[in-house]
Amino acid sequence: MLEEILELLSVPGVSGFEGPVREVIKAKAQWYAKTSVDRMGNLHAEAGGKGPHIMLIAHMDENGFVVTRIEDSGFLRFRTIGGWDDRCLVGRVVNLLTPKGTVKGVIGLLPPHLMTKPNEEMAKVLRTEDLHIDAGCSSAAEVQGLGVEVGTPVVLEKQPTMLRNNVLSARGLDDRVGCAVLLELLKRLHGRKLSAHLHYVWSVQEEIGLRGAQMLSMSHRPDAAIIVDTCSASDIPGVASHFSQIRMGGGPVIRFIDNRAIATPGLVAFVRRIAEERGIVIQMGISGGSTDGAMAQAGGAAMMPLGFPIRYTHSPVECVSLKDVEEMVRLLESLILEMDQGGWDAEKA
Ligand SMILES: [Zn+2]
Repeated sequence: MLEEILELLSVPGVSGFEGPVREVIKAKAQWYAKTSVDRMGNLHAEAGGKGPHIMLIAHMDENGFVVTRIEDSGFLRFRTIGGWDDRCLVGRVVNLLTPKGTVKGVIGLLPPHLMTKPNEEMAKVLRTEDLHIDAGCSSAAEVQGLGVEVGTPVVLEKQPTMLRNNVLSARGLDDRVGCAVLLELLKRLHGRKLSAHLHYVWSVQEEIGLRGAQMLSMSHRPDAAIIVDTCSASDIPGVASHFSQIRMGGGPVIRFIDNRAIATPGLVAFVRRIAEERGIVIQMGISGGSTDGAMAQAGGAAMMPLGFPIRYTHSPVECVSLKDVEEMVRLLESLILEMDQGGWDAEKA
């Protein structure tokens, strides 16, 4: 699956501008199922029969930026889209995604050599509004000539790197790994005669408030929704001891409580039972943040977010163990086959 994850990482999909990544996923999914795109931009692939309606959701959007102003000097000002940590932004390479193609830029910063009070200034975290993008241009006209305008989406350049023990590090693993997991399931279950109605969704605008899933919750009524997304691993230095213990490499996580939702107990119990029967080690996580599951649940579905442990969430060096990803696929495949055989009681909350 590494190859597929890397391919999905290589295409941008800033929240609200998911077109490029959607095209790549759609081109792959349509070999295995009927695909469609709704008005908001969520990509759907449906397979199987008329049995229980099982929706699997992974969000394809990623955090990014948008150009807000082009200065006469050619420097660009911008605002964030999604939950960034401003400490991660300075000194990075960015890609400006214009209709004419990608324009490279850097998020510049004042060097100590040009500071009036270096000790004070270097201790400060620079906020987005203090920063600028430098595309190497010397006037507004030159930047505009490249296709950059107010509203141009921007992404940090990704640098996928393999660490020891099959750990992949890159920005955007949240949630391109989830997108790849859904594609893998679609492939593995293809050709099986299933009575369950399998409904795969690659959702939009998750990072700016679960917007794509909100629309889904109003337009579809699945019996169960399983959300494939991250769960922050707490096995790194500096984490306070009251956070739940989630280990990268320790197996997929049932993210049963987060800031916006509590997973449906009956579904959680079912997943725990199947994992145990199949010898799949899982972790139970209580996390901050939220997933598309909050919306699916509000729409009436039994809901459970299944997370792959991720270190350094939303930073340029997110880390994921590929072993966890493989185990996650194995667990999801088992769950779906069991649900298909009537092993899950949809009425039992
Ligand atoms: Zn996510």
